[in-house]
Amino acid sequence: MRERLGPDSVRAGLLFQRFEQTADGVRAHFLDRSNGHPAVEDADVLVGADGIDSAVRTQLHPDESPPTWNGVHMWRGVAHHPHVLDGRSIVVAGGTPGAKFVAYPIEDPTSADSDTLVNWVLELRHRSGHEPSAPPPEGTGRRVTAAEARAGLSSWQLPWIDLTTLAERSSAIFEYPMLDRDPLPRWSFGRSRSSATPHTRCSPWA
Ligand SMILES: Cc1cc2nc3c(=O)[nH]c(=O)nc-3n(C[C@H](O)[C@H](O)[C@H](O)COP(=O)(O)OP(=O)(O)OC[C@H]3O[C@@H](n4cnc5c(N)ncnc54)[C@H](O)[C@@H]3O)c2cc1C
Repeated sequence: MRERLGPDSVRAGLLFQRFEQTADGVRAHFLDRSNGHPAVEDADVLVGADGIDSAVRTQLHPDESPPTWNGVHMWRGVAHHPHVLDGRSIVVAGGTPGAKFVAYPIEDPTSADSDTLVNWVLELRHRSGHEPSAPPPEGTGRRVTAAEARAGLSSWQLPWIDLTTLAERSSAIFEYPMLDRDPLPRWSFGRSRSSATPHTRCSPWA
């Protein structure tokens, strides 16, 4: 992107805080994480692409409730595993929310040895009868131990993939809540808009 737009077109390390619209543009206020100083950018338009907890969206829609959680957790890991079938196959097992396993290679199987790096996701329900609510109090990104993951995966019997290997070889396994947001009545206000981001933070696409 820098090559096409010029070296000054991308600035990293700025935490967006707020904006105001001016007569002929929009002014965005940031915190420069490298030195803690405020930073300001003037532009023709502002597009907020700052994720499900978007600060731009919060300013545009101050009364919006926090994302809701459907009671489903996702455990995610990455591990080397022998080729699944032809090494290019995607595993999608189950399908009911909270009872689903997905795994797919994330490196070219022809460039890997006998093992391929596999990204895997296990959905599991927090507890039955959970009603949609605000995100779980324990937050997001809890570390799941290999032993816990082995226990969670133990009820899955899939002939082409060794789930114990996946659990044991994953250098880190994290738990994410499946969050959602209701659609917004509008995205754009003058020169500012929040991006048409997918509603869910980390719902497996498969
Ligand atoms: C572990 C994991 C695996 C996933 N796997 C898949 C997958 O395989 N397939 C799939 O389709 N989806 C997947 N998802 C979901 C997918 O990542 C999200 O739906 C998608 O990234 C949302 O894109 P986004 O641009 O709206 O937000 P994000 O990708 O969340 O990007 C927001 C960016 O804004 C930055 N930011 C936040 N606040 C500020 C601020 N105040 N100032 C400046 N910058 C800020 C963040 O640091 C981040 O870089 C996965 C999600 C997770 C967590």
